[in-house]
Amino acid sequence: MKKINFKTYTSIHIGPSLHVEVITKPLHIKSDTFLLGGGNNILVSQNPPKMAMLGHIFNFLHVKNNLLHVGGATPSGKILSFAKKYNIKNFELMQKLPGTLGGMIKMNAGLKKWNIFNYLVAVKTENGWHKKKDIEFDYRYTNIKGTIYEATFEIHNGFDLELVKMFKKFRDNQPNLPSAGSCFKNPTDNFAGELLEIAGLKGYTKGNMAFCKTHANFLVNLGDGTFQDAIYLIELAKRKVFEKSGIKLELEIQVVSKI
Ligand SMILES: Cc1cc2nc3c(=O)[nH]c(=O)nc-3n(C[C@H](O)[C@H](O)[C@H](O)COP(=O)(O)OP(=O)(O)OC[C@H]3O[C@@H](n4cnc5c(N)ncnc54)[C@H](O)[C@@H]3O)c2cc1C
Repeated sequence: MKKINFKTYTSIHIGPSLHVEVITKPLHIKSDTFLLGGGNNILVSQNPPKMAMLGHIFNFLHVKNNLLHVGGATPSGKILSFAKKYNIKNFELMQKLPGTLGGMIKMNAGLKKWNIFNYLVAVKTENGWHKKKDIEFDYRYTNIKGTIYEATFEIHNGFDLELVKMFKKFRDNQPNLPSAGSCFKNPTDNFAGELLEIAGLKGYTKGNMAFCKTHANFLVNLGDGTFQDAIYLIELAKRKVFEKSGIKLELEIQVVSKI
């Protein structure tokens, strides 16, 4: 067990302090237990379910049979540095993309046409290896049910520094206040940020939580913001956007709560 203070661990700086089970070998995690990655895409209530996280043993990178093997707990920055050092391309999108491999694969993290699934070969869960062709995936979606312990990727030469610069520039323009990344997924042919703005919610504040003044789709913590205020804004946004544009927004952030 490891004590985690979610107020400092999560990127949105909300949540209680509690003990999380540390997984040290591949096993079935009970379905009532939430699997924690780096905490960059989650909003944790004061009353969360039991949680587990991968231990250090799953933080690794190595090359075998011309495939890059990456452990589920490996942070994005470490993967990016490895790719740069060994001149491997297609990992540039990890520049300033906060997360661990498990979280990035589960969420199919990425930006525009660059997604982590693009060069993925297979994913290992407690049920063995699953080839990419057997996994359903889409924009910020996968149907992976179990725990991601490891994944393999194709290796292509040519780490692209220009692409790294582009990702850096893009992410430097994102708000630097605590957030969990984009709050809502972009609906087909629409941008969630624009819909929120049309609904009058850009900069809208409740307590110390707000839809950012510069990027409406970032739900930001202005300091000591609460789970309740975050949920209030999320529900308000869903209602207002539907009233204004007839579109049902879908959350990208994962809400971690028993109720
Ligand atoms: C400032 C900022 C900018 C961001 N920009 C982007 C962006 O450009 N593109 C983008 O896609 N995302 C972005 N995000 C969101 C976030 O970086 C990604 O969703 C990332 O993949 C989260 O990884 P994590 O390890 O922190 O996962 P967590 O937030 O801890 O968990 C996310 C989900 O993954 C699951 N999970 C975690 N580990 C595992 C595992 N080993 N096996 C199975 N499931 C697991 C969790 O149960 C949960 O459902 C941003 C976030 C922030 C704070």
